[in-house]
Amino acid sequence: MSDGPLTRALLAEGARHGPGLYAQEGAFGRRAGACPYDADGREYLDFAAGIGVASLGHANARLASAVAEQASRLIVCSQGYGNDVRAAFLRRLCELAGGGLRRAFLCSSGTEANEAALKWARAATGRTNVVAARRGFAGRTIGALAATWEPRYRAPYESLLGAVDFVPYGDAEALEAAVDESTAAVVLEPVQGEGGVNVAPSGYLAAARDATRAVGALLVLDEVQCGAGRTGRFLAAHHDGVAADVVTLAKGLAGGVPIGATLMTEEVALALPPGGHGTTFGGNPLACAAGLVVLDELTAGGLMANAAAMGERLLAGLRSLVGPRVREVRGRGLMVGLELRERAAPVVAELRRRGLVTVAAGPNVVRYLPPLTVSAAEVDEAVAITAAALAG
Ligand code: PLP
Repeated sequence: MSDGPLTRALLAEGARHGPGLYAQEGAFGRRAGACPYDADGREYLDFAAGIGVASLGHANARLASAVAEQASRLIVCSQGYGNDVRAAFLRRLCELAGGGLRRAFLCSSGTEANEAALKWARAATGRTNVVAARRGFAGRTIGALAATWEPRYRAPYESLLGAVDFVPYGDAEALEAAVDESTAAVVLEPVQGEGGVNVAPSGYLAAARDATRAVGALLVLDEVQCGAGRTGRFLAAHHDGVAADVVTLAKGLAGGVPIGATLMTEEVALALPPGGHGTTFGGNPLACAAGLVVLDELTAGGLMANAAAMGERLLAGLRSLVGPRVREVRGRGLMVGLELRERAAPVVAELRRRGLVTVAAGPNVVRYLPPLTVSAAEVDEAVAITAAALAG
């Protein structure tokens, strides 16, 4: 089916049987690089990448053959049993994370990774309260939702965690004032994604590290969107030299195969006894085989360096558009936000009409999250399309 044309009838069926949660603005079939095709065979430049997921682009040949090879060997292996591919992936993942993050719980999504982080924080500290940031986004399951700022997502489901105090992002003093002996964890994204592509100001994560250490709380960094090489370093926190107790990853970590990871120190890991947490699909060899390819491409394949260089190029190009419609352009590596002086959704739609796929972040930010394989020519084209859309 994947090679066949997208038929409108089939797409309508898909919409009818889906959960009714998404306003689908189009449909994509298969394609390589940063360029998927839609139902009419039109090619797009994909600077959303499934919201930062397709780190190797679409239809990456090496990823596809590793997944196919693994599928023909062993797709599933319960975590109750050892597996060579999982072991190799865990070893490489912890090596790249460094900073004492020597253990990782594997799961299948970002929200699960954060859910596990909160559970471990509670077990490690015996406390229930959390400090999180305004505009932060941790996921849609009940625990992760409690640490998600946007009230329309969170409010109808409040209750399971202890108190969650939302402090202004980037304000070290406010954070220090909110953290005390009742705090189990401070949960922060080093670069906020859904909240509008906000980069932690220099010294902010270090201040969070000191504040949590002073009261015996955990520092949990949610790198579900900004981690796994997207900012040009394996962890975004590596730019600041801050070592957290727990770091969560997902999205681009396996190039599109569902995966999540909660990395933690030995000390945190010991807080939950054997059997204290688990998941059926976590650590399955298929996702781990895909993850191994991504980790190798990030390092030996030079993709982290490419993310850093192309990110600079994208930032510089978009910054030239600051003016009557664009208030600011900010970001790190290939996680870039263009803040408009108007609503983002119509501009995202206009960009798509012109062949460039982006994604809004908050009411007035257009977010650019291209595959980490993106080329200089593709970056220049994305900037040119944006310039034309804003001029037109
Ligand atoms: N944390 C951050 C920073 C995210 O951006 C997201 C998703 O956008 C999540 C957690 C939740 O991840 P998932 O959608 O895989 O559950």
